[in-house]
Amino acid sequence: MKLSELAEDIIERLWIEVEEEGGAFLDPEAAMGLKSDAEAVRELARNALVELRNGMLYIRPEGREAGRMTVRRHRLAERLMMDVLNLRGEAGEQKVCQFEHLLTEGVDIKICTMLNHPTTCPHGKPIPPGECCYQARQSGDLGVVPLTEFKSGQEGEIAYIQTDDSKKMQKLMAMGVLPGNRILLTQAFPSYIFKVGFSEFAIDTALAREIFVRKR
Ligand SMILES: [Zn+2]
Ligand SMILES: [Zn+2]
Repeated sequence: MKLSELAEDIIERLWIEVEEEGGAFLDPEAAMGLKSDAEAVRELARNALVELRNGMLYIRPEGREAGRMTVRRHRLAERLMMDVLNLRGEAGEQKVCQFEHLLTEGVDIKICTMLNHPTTCPHGKPIPPGECCYQARQSGDLGVVPLTEFKSGQEGEIAYIQTDDSKKMQKLMAMGVLPGNRILLTQAFPSYIFKVGFSEFAIDTALAREIFVRKR
């Protein structure tokens, strides 16, 4: 079932109201402040996700799962914006709202895995775990970690670089620190020494923390 974006936003608000804020129902007009929500509300009712009583929305069991997944996508999108794309403030918030609707089944798993199955959003709210999170916990797969969590001798693949400093980014790219390249950490103290391709480089801890690698 693919919901409209407005319907997703409403079920998301309703889920938070009921599951996290202890409410029993949602007043769609007060919460969303839009008259045009009527169609989205009907859409939710048609899909048996909500029950409409006296203009108030009550969540149905099917709606709980849909709401949970919508909240999951929203909070994963928040993490992605902040942690990887370094988008903060209002620009980031707006992007989150557009982006979360793109993280449909499959994409959310990829993003979640890339982010190492985060448990909280940047505001400290829990991210409802998905199937991928349970599997990762069971298999002990640590996913993507900063290079500083590698031990010397450990090899992995570069997942992404997280820095808002373009000089640092250029420096790393010139070393061949690019997503998809193999990286071997040869020394972790007093500085980080690693091999990419046939070349060896030394960097300090601050920079090593900005390289995210996938363990293998
Ligand atoms: Zn949040
Ligand atoms: Zn996950």
